Amino acid sequence: MAIASNVGFPRIGAHRELKKALESYWPGKSSEMELLSIGKNLRRENWTLQKALGIDHIPSNDFSLYDHVLDTAYMVGAIPARYQPEAGDVTLATYFAMARGSRDARFSGAAPTSGSGAHAMEMTKWFDTNYHYIVPEFESGQRFRLSSRKAVEEFLEAKALGIITRPVLLGPVSFLLLGKTKTPGFKVMSLLDSLLPIYAEVLQLLKGAGAEWIQLDEPALILELGAEEEAAFIQAYEYLRSSGLRFLIATYFGGLRENLDWVLDLPVSAIHLDLVRAPEQLQEAIQMAPGTLQLSLGLINGRNVWRTDLNRTLALAEQAAQRLGRDRILIAPSCSLLHSPVDLELERNLDSEVLSWLAFAKQKLEEVVVLTRALNEGRTAIQKILDRNRETTERKQHSPRIHNPAIQQRSARVKPEMFHRKNAYNIREQAQKAALQLPLLPTTTIGSFPQTKEVRALRAEYKSGKRTLESYRAALQKEIQETIRIQEATGLDVLVHGEFERNDMVEFFGEQLSGFATTENGWVQSYGSRCVKPPIIYGDVARLHPMTVDWAKFAQSLTLKPMKGMLTGPVTVLEWSFVRDDQPRESTCRQIALAIRDEVADLEAAGIRVIQIDEPAFREGLPLRRADWKNYLEWAVGSFRLASSGVRDETQIHTHMCYSEFNNIMDAVAAMDADVISIEASRSEMELLRAFAQFRYPNAIGPGVYDIHSPRVPTTEEIENLLKNILQVLPASQVWVNPDCGLKTRRWEEVRPALSAMVEAARHCRQAHKENSSESVQSVPAAKTTR
Ligand code: GLN
Ligand code: ZN
Repeated sequence: MAIASNVGFPRIGAHRELKKALESYWPGKSSEMELLSIGKNLRRENWTLQKALGIDHIPSNDFSLYDHVLDTAYMVGAIPARYQPEAGDVTLATYFAMARGSRDARFSGAAPTSGSGAHAMEMTKWFDTNYHYIVPEFESGQRFRLSSRKAVEEFLEAKALGIITRPVLLGPVSFLLLGKTKTPGFKVMSLLDSLLPIYAEVLQLLKGAGAEWIQLDEPALILELGAEEEAAFIQAYEYLRSSGLRFLIATYFGGLRENLDWVLDLPVSAIHLDLVRAPEQLQEAIQMAPGTLQLSLGLINGRNVWRTDLNRTLALAEQAAQRLGRDRILIAPSCSLLHSPVDLELERNLDSEVLSWLAFAKQKLEEVVVLTRALNEGRTAIQKILDRNRETTERKQHSPRIHNPAIQQRSARVKPEMFHRKNAYNIREQAQKAALQLPLLPTTTIGSFPQTKEVRALRAEYKSGKRTLESYRAALQKEIQETIRIQEATGLDVLVHGEFERNDMVEFFGEQLSGFATTENGWVQSYGSRCVKPPIIYGDVARLHPMTVDWAKFAQSLTLKPMKGMLTGPVTVLEWSFVRDDQPRESTCRQIALAIRDEVADLEAAGIRVIQIDEPAFREGLPLRRADWKNYLEWAVGSFRLASSGVRDETQIHTHMCYSEFNNIMDAVAAMDADVISIEASRSEMELLRAFAQFRYPNAIGPGVYDIHSPRVPTTEEIENLLKNILQVLPASQVWVNPDCGLKTRRWEEVRPALSAMVEAARHCRQAHKENSSESVQSVPAAKTTR
């Protein structure tokens, strides 16, 4: 019989129970026991739900109090020295210290310079998802030892409920590949020999507890791998086979491509393939799968929110079953459902037609079960469901809610000149200089100002109908007025209104564009207790009305200084939403770009002379394989240019990106042709700037000189020193002075003195520069080119 299987279930809870439990535990408002019991309840609910739905292979150990990669590091004892308590065993406090850092003096042993406590481990994006994992740290001479029995305990917990689960472990090779080392020249893969015995130990314990199947997640198998990595995979699974357990190796987020043939030969019982991202690999896999190997068909999209076209998908499953026999087939989501919202049944406000197109984690598992039944009992057993699904699929293909000929025509008629400003940067620069009259080293901020309790309450009251539009507006206007007064008093040169009307930089626009739906409970874990609620782009996108113009106009009316209009860029809106799967991402991105272009035009017409289009997600859209980058960068850059190029020379376009790895995308960043780019720089200041200088980045740059991720208030002197360093590598005429990112997470008590220090530092540098340049003849900055 074919097996209905799941790869992983969301752990945060349908009502974000885990988030709430963690955020009450951390500040000491609830006990460890309470936290653990909420975790236990969630696991029980998830297992019993999956069992009730008819899933045969139910995962365990897919739950985590923070992150599954951290769990793995913790399990094998890869606990960096700074978290090793002087006495006693590792505890939950150790675990959370690794995740979030700790001020506890117990953890200060190895980090004497940073005062008491230890800083958190680094966090980075899990492949191309918006989930972030804790990066394992390895050192030469790294020792491993079994430090946590979580996998076994959770297996037994489910067993006690009468459910034999399939425990999930992050595979040893992907685990090592996801980690990093500070020891130069040290090869992480050399740790495999000492890591494998720990895995073997866990497997023996699981076997002893009664486990039959084990899922080993090896998503690294979809990447471009070298001979060394290939050898490591083979070595690992040759070593682990002696455990006598049945292994399923799970691959996801792409096809195995050139790795497929040797992966199918690994000594395991089953391989899971992502057939949503890479359906083409099924044929080859069917042909090449040796003897008894079982294939887990990842047919239900774990990364998006759409109902599956069951008729089309079933045909694929049937093909595989015919060739291999249904005993060798598992039906599954493409990847863990960690990346899906939990339950569509909680949505009460969605349009009923849109609702009929959607499936969240629970509904996706229903689809898994339906497909499995069709293989085992024949199509007739589920004929009604198939018919209904066909109807919905067909209706969707023609729904006027999705397809808007006017939008499509406009998109098709975009002309090449719409991707270009009228003149090159050097000409625009002169025009902007004359129009804006800014000093050398102009100061500005990235857009948002503190989102205080009061501001949040205002929005919530308005949303729930407790406050009228007029009173909401009046209250926000007061906030804006006050924010402008503070910026003027501080002496900033280009002001912002503060973004108080925005809950989220993508949802705010999604709520005002056609083709978008926002959910009430469509939360997905981002990291630890943090969740995001991505809007759903279901149809053609257009702007229905101006979205930010009133606020910007109001703000500009209060000051003579230039007010910066704030927009979210097309790539970021796309990246941080669930997107439609019936057309290429780039087509959707172009529609968003045109909508933003309209907003840019209206802002300009309303007298806004500086417009910032944020693209913090630009880099994270990069495909996992280098070979696919070029295509992405072309349309991503194109979308930004389409959104931003409709303005006069005098109108200054800014963009903002909140990270600092630009080395391998510098061409693309320059090709975006924003007049000014602000970036995060406070961590690796000089390295980053050297990259910009060496590349001869042609336009202006604002490297963040105030680290907004820390509550620390920087001194004037500190910022001045940073600026001096910056001016060693970049000509002053090219440099802006600004914080790293928006200030919404900071408090006014921090922001006010920090910005004062920043403005003061800029003044000092300006003065010093004037004195210097009156002595020297050199004035043409070296890094200016006319591109
Ligand atoms: N303008 C946004 C803000 O200041 C930018 C946020 C971001 O880049 N993530 O909040
Ligand atoms: Zn930012």
